[in-house]
Amino acid sequence: MDAEQLRSEGCKVIDIVADYWESMRKRRPLPDVKPGFMNQLVSAAPPTAPEDWKTIYEDLEKVVFNPATHWNHPHFFAYFPAGLTYHSIMADILSSGLSSVGFSWMACPAITELEKAMLDWVVELMGLPEHFKNSHPGPGCGIIQSSGSDSILIAILTARAAKVIRFLNSKVEEIKSSPSIFQWLPNFSLGKSLYNILNHNVFNSNTDRPSYDSTDVITPFYHDPRVFQNFVMYFCDQGHSSIEKGAWLAGVRYRKLKAIKGYLGNYGLDPDALRKAVQEDRDRGYIPFMLIVTVGTTSSCGIDEIERLTPICKAEGLYVHVDSAYAGSYALCEENRYLLNGVENVDSYNTNLHKAGMINFDCSPMWFKNGTYASRYYNVDAIHLAHEYQSTGTDYRHLEIPLGRRFRSLKLWFTLRNWGADKIKDYLRGTMDIAIFFSKIIVEDQKFELFVPPILGLCCFRLRNHSNSDNERLCTAINRDRRIHIVPSTIHSIFFLRFAVGSPMTTKEDAVHAKKIIFEIANNLFKK
Ligand SMILES: *Cc1c(COP(=O)(O)O)cnc(C)c1O
Repeated sequence: MDAEQLRSEGCKVIDIVADYWESMRKRRPLPDVKPGFMNQLVSAAPPTAPEDWKTIYEDLEKVVFNPATHWNHPHFFAYFPAGLTYHSIMADILSSGLSSVGFSWMACPAITELEKAMLDWVVELMGLPEHFKNSHPGPGCGIIQSSGSDSILIAILTARAAKVIRFLNSKVEEIKSSPSIFQWLPNFSLGKSLYNILNHNVFNSNTDRPSYDSTDVITPFYHDPRVFQNFVMYFCDQGHSSIEKGAWLAGVRYRKLKAIKGYLGNYGLDPDALRKAVQEDRDRGYIPFMLIVTVGTTSSCGIDEIERLTPICKAEGLYVHVDSAYAGSYALCEENRYLLNGVENVDSYNTNLHKAGMINFDCSPMWFKNGTYASRYYNVDAIHLAHEYQSTGTDYRHLEIPLGRRFRSLKLWFTLRNWGADKIKDYLRGTMDIAIFFSKIIVEDQKFELFVPPILGLCCFRLRNHSNSDNERLCTAINRDRRIHIVPSTIHSIFFLRFAVGSPMTTKEDAVHAKKIIFEIANNLFKK
């Protein structure tokens, strides 16, 4: 292919995408396929000679569109939304078209600097703390991670490293105040010798474990497993599965605290349970190091109250990370900002603009109150990555799991400039209206009840006076029918259905349509 062919074929692909969007209402949100179906559509052997574009395009419907789950179908009410603007589709083309990789400032100054600027726009638009801004003179900073899960893992590793350092510092203080040790270590100084002192006096003093002094096996200073082996972190039992996975990946212990109904009637973390758990764990010899707060849980959009939790964390020396993957985008609308009250006191924060924020996957901004220390923990100074401006330019590689990164901020730049934040706010308010509207109509006839009050774009409901298994049968039947798509959840052994409004195409008429389908299927299943 040459550039001329890219021009002509590229335009055709844009046409195909536009046609797809125009065809949406003719489709069903869920495809009718079974695992392994692709074997019938794609030959087992790779092609031996190039095929022409026309032949390939002809396969698109059966290989790509027909077996896809259509996340922006107006009758898709599952999970949480997969945000979208056409602007971000265009920006993704541009990012691929440029095909530069921006791990350090030097590796692509445009990627780094536009990202910094766009994140400051988002801080401004969402009313987030000024100290998160990249342009703020303090040590705060923002970065676009590829997912909420990445952000959470990085937050856990950062909290773990911060506690490792504090633990080691406290040991240094103990050693310094112990005259007997000073006697036989007259040349005490910071740096490498400090590390040797710690090795001898903290880790190897009374054990038969192997010596950790070998020079060919490296024990990472900030990530020393001997130090964090008894660390424990906390989150609500409604926290996202990526928090648990993050704890596994970080090799730290964790404790899930049982949610209680909070001030909005949804399930969130109980501050008293946190206080009690920290005390209990200290008494048992564990070292509490972190709390992950969720604002907008996946199950019921429950809210852990930042304002009531951060004072406990401050008193107990816990790092606080807030995961607001879904709800965070709603802070674009001023009336929802109370959900984040207290966010100025947290150490880090993430939200997924690729959920309700209308920016195509992937775009997961994360902010640190103090990004300077965080970036120290991941700074592997390979000589081929060094550059002249590394002391003054931002090197995003120090704050993320991968090295390489694409030009994600272009999606924000296009969307915010040509579409505007007000349009995103209109969309968000639309989803909130529809969720409230649906909550009203689903409880007509007393067949269904709300499980918790609707919040943001989510309504949780269940069949009244029916068992969990009846509700489960209903959910399965709805998805087998395929005219609408919803997913269920359970909280403390109660099964319920979730109706998450996400597609920008969804209207109140679609909510009425969904209600009719749900009633029809329920009536068929549970004939009196
Ligand atoms: C979706 C979600 C996540 C995970 O986000 P990914 O970007 O898919 O990794 C984490 N937390 C909450 C509350 C979520 O809703």
